[in-house]
Amino acid sequence: MKIYNSASRKIEEFVPNHPDIVKMYTCGPTVYHFAHIGNLRSYIMEDVLEKYLRFAGYNVKRVMNITDVGHLTSDADEGEDKMLKGARREHKSVMEIAKFYTDAFFSDCARLNIKTPDVVEPATNCIDDYIRIISRLMDTGYAYFAGGNVYFDTSKLEHYYIFNDFNEEDLAVGVREGVDEDLNKRNKNDFVLWFTKSKFEDQALKWDSPWGTGYPGWHIECSGISMKHLGEDLDIHCGGIDNAFPHHTNEIAQSESYLGHKWCNYWMHVLHLNTTDGKMSKSKGEFLTVSLLEDKGYDPLSYRLFCLQSHYRKSLVFNWENLDNAQKTYEKLIGRIAALSPKGEPIDEENTKKLRERFDSALANDLNTSLAVTSLYDVLKANANDDTKLKLIADFDSVLGLDLIRKAEVKRELLKKQAAAAGEFTVISEDGSSDPAVEAKILERQEAKKAKDYARADAIREELKVSGIEVTDIPHGARWKRI
Ligand code: AMP
Ligand code: ZN
Repeated sequence: MKIYNSASRKIEEFVPNHPDIVKMYTCGPTVYHFAHIGNLRSYIMEDVLEKYLRFAGYNVKRVMNITDVGHLTSDADEGEDKMLKGARREHKSVMEIAKFYTDAFFSDCARLNIKTPDVVEPATNCIDDYIRIISRLMDTGYAYFAGGNVYFDTSKLEHYYIFNDFNEEDLAVGVREGVDEDLNKRNKNDFVLWFTKSKFEDQALKWDSPWGTGYPGWHIECSGISMKHLGEDLDIHCGGIDNAFPHHTNEIAQSESYLGHKWCNYWMHVLHLNTTDGKMSKSKGEFLTVSLLEDKGYDPLSYRLFCLQSHYRKSLVFNWENLDNAQKTYEKLIGRIAALSPKGEPIDEENTKKLRERFDSALANDLNTSLAVTSLYDVLKANANDDTKLKLIADFDSVLGLDLIRKAEVKRELLKKQAAAAGEFTVISEDGSSDPAVEAKILERQEAKKAKDYARADAIREELKVSGIEVTDIPHGARWKRI
């Protein structure tokens, strides 16, 4: 597989460190509110990556954190903890908020067919791991204690800005976001590893540490959780593009300083989903959730299809018209698959190989999901039997996650029932002749009866009588004669 590595800014051949396993880490949600569909775009594309790696024959161990402490309202180390803000908003405890929104997140994921990672670890479970890493960083001079907090000293690194070429001034997060500069920092982009400062006295969750009672910074949790479950090296680390700086930059700084060697080989960043008026955000009042899409009558999987139709390295604009189109495409696709019927015929191996290669090479090319979706249509158009087509579609859908086979089965059953219901109602004439105009009228009457519009049914019967036709109801149909 070839994948764009944000760290090298090049498309590279994906070669895992160990032949038998791909170690994959993805930044998880901050569980102070519902996930918006922008967040979920990132999780959908990461899910496709994981499923494709498995499709391509790799074993994957995927780890994800749940941020339930330490993520402040500003990506710089400023503002209050987002969890505390959520708890105050809803008059609940931080742990209640964390539980509620973690469950809500996984329920959204289930509705979008996003597989739960092999390991899901809440940040509050791994305090000892962070303390161990920070202690070594203090011992080796990469971290310093100032004003009650422990900071990482970015000036100790030769190459701190991994993902961008911008200058330090542009990237100074505290300055960029218009918040007060933290005067304890030796360098503008130094970041907090451990907070104890009185400013954060209202913090709900605190732990003892060698530097005083406090809580970890946001960045250290991902390094700690990754190393706890995946060891000292990592093949691929994913997240939304906003995480590249400062979060992932800081993860690399602290992890590699702690380990003394390279930590992660590939970095995959998903570009943002935007609304027509800009970036989607949780702080913008009413925001778009999976439940909102459902309330408006959309199948969440049509949103998944919408995401798959564009490349993860392009930002994507959401509007209702685009989602309508995706929903129509999704319904039509299911309709076409429902029209296939398994007959127990032998699988056409030659066609299978050719079509599978086309699908595989689309995804092997930096996860070209829109081309992979197109290869579903190649299957539908192929000169192969329905059993072959259904098998291929099931195979592709193990990566695309559109629930195509099950939805098509449901649709097929529905069509069968409708056909049976339509077939049950027969129109016959007493003398065996046929008259399409009369038959159409009688069927129209039947439809009116089905809709319980008896007035209309009676009116049609009268209309036929006036034109010289008498209708008699019989079991499962109607009989007519000229009078
Ligand atoms: P958060 O819950 O804020 O920590 O974000 C969860 C994930 O969603 C992170 O990987 C973010 O980078 C990603 N993310 C945030 N906003 C968007 C967006 N508008 N589009 C795509 N991904 C996003
Ligand atoms: Zn992270």
